[in-house]
Amino acid sequence: MSVVSMGELLIDFVAQESGVTVGEASGFQKAPGGAPANVAVAVTRLGAKSAFLGQVGDDPFGHYLADVLAAEDVDVTGLRFSDKARTMLAFVSLAADGERSFQFYRNPRANMLMTPQDVAYDVIDQHQIFHFGSITLIDAPERDATWAAVKYAQEKGLRISYDPNLREALWPSQDAARAGLLSGLDYAHIVKVSEEEVVFLTGSDDARALWRDPTEIIVVTHGAGGATLYTADAEYHQPGNRVTAVDTTGAGDSFVAALLVSLLEMGDQPDYDALLRFANAVGAITTTERGAIPALPTRDRVEALLS
Ligand code: ADP
Repeated sequence: MSVVSMGELLIDFVAQESGVTVGEASGFQKAPGGAPANVAVAVTRLGAKSAFLGQVGDDPFGHYLADVLAAEDVDVTGLRFSDKARTMLAFVSLAADGERSFQFYRNPRANMLMTPQDVAYDVIDQHQIFHFGSITLIDAPERDATWAAVKYAQEKGLRISYDPNLREALWPSQDAARAGLLSGLDYAHIVKVSEEEVVFLTGSDDARALWRDPTEIIVVTHGAGGATLYTADAEYHQPGNRVTAVDTTGAGDSFVAALLVSLLEMGDQPDYDALLRFANAVGAITTTERGAIPALPTRDRVEALLS
């Protein structure tokens, strides 16, 4: 029972003090990230197997990221190291008005240069679910690499999971972002979106407007409000857990991991209410600690919260 996740892998450098711009910050804390990488780590923390596909620079930051994933038991044989560009970095601070300010070091970045030849197709063969996001759909050639992997997974009969994470600033325009995010739906059996993404993508709050030919499940997350799951003919909702949230980074990613692990475990007749309670608990715990990867829960912690 296992998940292969493909996408961006980067380091966030988070300013040590808040209320300053990244230029003013006196120091930064390293935080490994990238939504699909968070999903891969969250899957292993929950006790299933995972692998990660992507590309970083053949530099100390890239090797650090590979070590972080390997230490979490994620299979990194499909992680490539480029000598043509460096690992992507993002400097982040919380400004005085509470807005997060970002400074990306991403043009060019190693993952953007990944081509279809760089995809570890033999790794995809070893898994049941293929997960991807939308950040690697922004620029070629990594967009071509992503589509090549998605289509290969489809041919091999894997279930395809897609999280169209909205990062408007990374796209050339709003229209390009909308078209890019929607394009992944044509291949996905399992779709996870936040309620803000539903509004952005459909212009309404009707998640069913995202339904396409292969769709089997759409899950909409509502932050502290929990989540709603749609199948072809039914709808399930479970409220969120009450926790003291300190940093919501990674909550959506750990929610995805919990959703996928549950679907693998539950087989043909999933108990969708139990699945949503489990995934909500996983997402909630992730908000109670700073950072994404350090906050991802083990199954014991989730069961403790649920009982
Ligand atoms: P995303 O990170 O993709 O925007 P959400 O913020 O909706 O996703 O969070 C994903 C899930 O994590 C939610 O459905 C919920 O289960 C859990 N979660 C997020 N924020 C909170 C919170 N403040 N309190 C409790 N649970 C939360």
